[in-house]
Amino acid sequence: TAPLLEVDDLQVEFRVGQGVVSAVNGVSFTLEPGRTLAVVGESGSGKSVTAQAIMRLLQTPPARITGGRILFQGKDLLALPETEHRAVCGEHIAIVFQDALAALNPVYTVGFQLTEALRARRHLPRSAAKKRAIELLELVQVPNPKQRVKEYPHQFSGGMRQRVMIALALALEPEVLIADEPTTALDVTVQAQIMRLLGEIQRERQMGMILITHDLGVVAEVADQVNVMYAGRVVETATVDDIFARPGHPYTQALLRSIPRLDRKGQQLDAISGRPPELNRIPAGCPFHPRCERAEDICRTDPAPQLRELAGGRTAACHFAE
Ligand code: SF4
Ligand code: MG
Repeated sequence: TAPLLEVDDLQVEFRVGQGVVSAVNGVSFTLEPGRTLAVVGESGSGKSVTAQAIMRLLQTPPARITGGRILFQGKDLLALPETEHRAVCGEHIAIVFQDALAALNPVYTVGFQLTEALRARRHLPRSAAKKRAIELLELVQVPNPKQRVKEYPHQFSGGMRQRVMIALALALEPEVLIADEPTTALDVTVQAQIMRLLGEIQRERQMGMILITHDLGVVAEVADQVNVMYAGRVVETATVDDIFARPGHPYTQALLRSIPRLDRKGQQLDAISGRPPELNRIPAGCPFHPRCERAEDICRTDPAPQLRELAGGRTAACHFAE
């Protein structure tokens, strides 16, 4: 049977000035029910753009999907007309963003926003929708939900607002949940609580989750599988255990060295030197070579290395991985 979600050789381009740059270059992965795929990388690596392509939320800069397929239960989403695509996503695929304040409508109560979603798609009568809205706030552990459904987004703290966003995303019981840096704007304790909650709900409902994050601590806690992205490409794929125990790509190794660790308190973080490339200045050869400690001539002269299989089913795009 077809995987829950399959992205195959996805290509996305941005128009920048007179030119066109590649923002996502040949990204492929599959997602199964009950599994969490973490997509990690610095900003500008194409991880959010991949998520936006699935949801057809690509907006600025002017962006275009120029190749590949996105299959939901075997059905090619890219081949669907706009209205049908919106229906499939509305019903089966939901997304949670970093910024709940921007995603929620400030002029309506939280309860209204939840009940409208349920009434529009589930045709629930108002009273049933209200009851369900309260249950959804209970599910995401918002205290005193009967009262809080009557309040407006600005009356919620950042963490509580993020829970409301998750409730909204779960309202129609999606099979796929995309979480794009869902807790980045929150303080560390609240981040941990919300990620734990999200992980619990995901497992309980056997949703497939794509978790986009630059936080490897979060990855260690909730992911099953990890894709590492750099300059629009996937440069390493592995199980969560393998990513931490034996990372194959020098970029992944550098990311891991940059994690703050409690047992190294006070020590200088080993941040990756240099910055990720601008999309219109992706270096020839291996795109990581200007920052790579292990770079040799071949890294500059040969075309960008493709993903190849390493021992244990891992893959890495590096001439020298293992
Ligand atoms: Fe570094 Fe070369 Fe591997 Fe690229 S191909 S990651 S530059 S060693
Ligand atoms: Mg992003």
